Amino acid sequence: MAADELARSFCLKTGGAFGIHRFSPGALAIEIASERLALSGKSVLSGIAVDALAARAVQDCRTSSGLSWFEPVATTPGFFRALASTLREIRLNNIDIAILAGSGPAGSDLALLVAAYERYLTEAGLADSAEIYRTAATVVRDGRHRFSGFPLLLLDVAPRSEVERAFIQTLAGAATSVLAVIGSRDEPVLTTTPQDIRNEEPTALNRLREHIFSTAPPPTGRLDATLELLSATDEARECVEVARSILATTGLGIPFDRMAILLRSPEAYQPLVEDALRRAGIPAFFSQGSRRPNPAGRAFLALLACASEGLTASRFSEYLSLGQVPQPDAKGEPPKRDPTWVPVQGELFPDIRPAQEPEDESQPEKELRTPQHWERLLVDAAVIGGRDRWVRRLDGLRQEFEKRIEEIGAEDEPRLARLERQLERLQQLRNFALPLIDSLHNLPRNAAWGEWLDALERLAAMSLRDPKGVLTVLAELRPMTNVGPVTLDEVRDVLTHRLTFLRTEPTERRYGKVFVATIPEAAGLMFHTVFLPGLGEDLFPKRTFEDPLLLDTDRKTISPNLSVQDRRVAEERLLLHTAAGAAEEKLCISYPRMNLGQGRSRGPSFYAIEVMRAVLGHVPDLRELQRIAAEASQSQPGWPSPRTPENAIDDAEYDLAVIQKLMRLPAAERRGAARYLLSTNENLQRSLHSRWYRWSSRWSDADGIVDPDSPTVEALSQHKLNKRPYSATALQRFSVCPYQFLLSSILRLEPRPEAVALERLDPLTKGSLLHEVQYRALSELQSMRLLPITLENLADVTRNVNRVFDQTVAEYQDLLAPAILRVWENEVENLRWDIQGWIRQVSESKEGWTPKWFELSFGLGAPAVVLPNGTLVRGAIDMVEEKDGTLRITDHKTGKAQPAFGFTRNGEVLQPLLYAQAAETLLSKPAVATRLFYCTQRAGYKVDEIPVTEEGRGFLSKVIDIIDESLTQGFMPAAPRKDACTYCDYRIVCGPHEESRLRRKTTDRLRLLEHLRGIP
Ligand code: SF4
Repeated sequence: MAADELARSFCLKTGGAFGIHRFSPGALAIEIASERLALSGKSVLSGIAVDALAARAVQDCRTSSGLSWFEPVATTPGFFRALASTLREIRLNNIDIAILAGSGPAGSDLALLVAAYERYLTEAGLADSAEIYRTAATVVRDGRHRFSGFPLLLLDVAPRSEVERAFIQTLAGAATSVLAVIGSRDEPVLTTTPQDIRNEEPTALNRLREHIFSTAPPPTGRLDATLELLSATDEARECVEVARSILATTGLGIPFDRMAILLRSPEAYQPLVEDALRRAGIPAFFSQGSRRPNPAGRAFLALLACASEGLTASRFSEYLSLGQVPQPDAKGEPPKRDPTWVPVQGELFPDIRPAQEPEDESQPEKELRTPQHWERLLVDAAVIGGRDRWVRRLDGLRQEFEKRIEEIGAEDEPRLARLERQLERLQQLRNFALPLIDSLHNLPRNAAWGEWLDALERLAAMSLRDPKGVLTVLAELRPMTNVGPVTLDEVRDVLTHRLTFLRTEPTERRYGKVFVATIPEAAGLMFHTVFLPGLGEDLFPKRTFEDPLLLDTDRKTISPNLSVQDRRVAEERLLLHTAAGAAEEKLCISYPRMNLGQGRSRGPSFYAIEVMRAVLGHVPDLRELQRIAAEASQSQPGWPSPRTPENAIDDAEYDLAVIQKLMRLPAAERRGAARYLLSTNENLQRSLHSRWYRWSSRWSDADGIVDPDSPTVEALSQHKLNKRPYSATALQRFSVCPYQFLLSSILRLEPRPEAVALERLDPLTKGSLLHEVQYRALSELQSMRLLPITLENLADVTRNVNRVFDQTVAEYQDLLAPAILRVWENEVENLRWDIQGWIRQVSESKEGWTPKWFELSFGLGAPAVVLPNGTLVRGAIDMVEEKDGTLRITDHKTGKAQPAFGFTRNGEVLQPLLYAQAAETLLSKPAVATRLFYCTQRAGYKVDEIPVTEEGRGFLSKVIDIIDESLTQGFMPAAPRKDACTYCDYRIVCGPHEESRLRRKTTDRLRLLEHLRGIP
């Protein structure tokens, strides 16, 4: 990039130039060596393929020769990547294998690994970077390349290995003339006559460049405008301060592309820089040093993990959760597309740039893009693994949903709608997941890399919305086609690190934008102002570590070319030199004052202190330094805005700064001062108004439906009790809270689904099974003339009921394919005891009722029942008994026993009386009793029975009238009875303070509701 800049500025000065070729040393070596490599049948090995070859060498040595020193760690994750780096260093520095082998146990193993690695290179016809440099140097010496006889400019070239240095020296030897620009502290590359071109102006920045890290005491000086030190509360605020400084610098007429932000730790800082610059509206160019989480790569890895772990649902869920699912085809299956060719990226292949493609703005069909629901369905289906198990469990879950739908009937419409939607999504999941599971199932087990790459490319094309990133990585592995065989686990190990993060090549131009890059990428570049964030403790410098595979003591005996700690420290220092060298007029260094990860304060790093020593001529007082840095920034603890609104980088900061100022003023002065907020954002205005109205004593629209306009009244009139049928459960909600009734029974807002522990059978499934057994058993007993159940026929009844129970359970088990058999068997055994207890309880009754009708449903597929007062109702009565031409209604309950319900228990238990009236209408016989029968051991087989009297009928009719009247008036506010919100599904809509809020409201309009809640 520095060479590009130089050529550009040269062209600007001269009006144009031809014949300037610009390369990094590696890219030039490839350019020069490729023809000769191609003639000898060799492919270039780079990037992840080097890791893959190192992994192969490890496996090879483990199975054939046997490693000794490294054997205990050879299979640990990351070993082969560390090895790849060490092997590269050994080969790039011409290390004698015999000396390496004799340097100790680690060296002996490394020698074996190098031999295996080199054997694979030869057998597979691969050329790694060491061979590329050597070949290029040979070609240069032969004078048979297209740049032969050209003059050579070396711009900030700092070779990092022996073969690279040899290549550069060979190049320089063959060039007609050489000009090299190098830093005064760089290791000499060439034998030259240096000419000192340092800037003698005694600015703080120049003193920093001159004296940093020097052991001689620097001359006394002071800070000036060329160097700035600031601090902020944390890294995010630090980046905001950088954005603020950039805006201030543009005020001096400096264009954005004359400024750079250089990052020591791009993985931690780049997202924060991006966010801060975006907020401030500053255009930025992120160099190829950017590395960020790679959702497509992670989704692909999750699929490979799914295949490796026996097709587990948890891994498949992880894939779905990453949001990379492609648009399914017309049949709902993964798209069948051929993998597109994508070029290999990287420094060695600079001319092959991916074309910038327009963003896909097509809107996929909404219902097909619901992987988060699929994820949940997979959890519900509890697929443990295996292709057959996937089919069985997905079918089982479908049956379970169908049973739940049957059980719920039309009693609870929102829940019913939700279950129906889940059923639909389950079908979508099945269509999409099973072909993918088949592909994973059919992946090779042990094959050459070529076969693996074909299969992986097909998998990426069918499983990822945008597979290009993954295909690029796979393209790097193509030279490995003939290497193998490798297992799925080895493939995963090789891909894991590379696919977890995304390294993107920029395709845009950097001009007109702030340059954001890693520090080494700024070598040879010049900017008016350079920002260097992160000069805090533990951040910059980073701790340097020895290579655990080849310790420094061994390295020193093997070759002086190998890196040791001193060189690593020097390389870290070189980064600070490079950053300071890139600043033409001003360097701005900063650090965060808090280490949020460890929850402690953080000071400037010793590099920051060293910067100040170089500039001031003495080590500054730390407290004084921290004070200067804090005062130089606008960042303040506990309030995310600058000290003054004028320095805000965006509207949010501006408003916060204004509000902070107002908060410090006396009440009289701040009255109305923030009123402008109401006109700046209509959503904020609505929110502030609504909040105020909700807590005022007056009823308003912020409380629910209170004073409806005529279209709302018209809409509500369609929901009157004589216009559409309601279930008893739906009507019962009104007394609990009219707003709950509105959300659930009219707006049909479905409650948030709650996770059900796999250790329990879903309550609806359990209820469905119990009701099915009761229905089948009573129907059979009726046809066998074994009803009513008495002590005399109890033995026969028990035998028959047990048979029906076993049959029904077997059918359900077959249909539902339970996730955990032990859980299913436990629950079934409990149910058996419940049913037997229920029969015994019934047999002890001496009241003379005979069960006649079971599962008598109305309004569920059949017409709704019209009660004498015109109210339409729907539901299903579990059992109707007859005695002397009169009826008794029973509703079987499987939940916890509730207190006795009186007639309607304050309007909250309507089922018994409502069902009694429905049965009378359907069967044209008078109902004299109605009851709730809790038929489980847990509920103690409690029976709540009341006679159906005129008084009871009157109470029911009053409840219905009040609900109807409220619908007519359109008054359905959030007015919960005591503790109603605690277990309400809509708490997430209303918030936690509804009961306290209600206490502030005038009670005049709640009279009807209070009346309803007073009905026994
Ligand atoms: S959370 Fe409270 S106020 Fe809101 S609907 Fe439920 S019961 Fe009513």
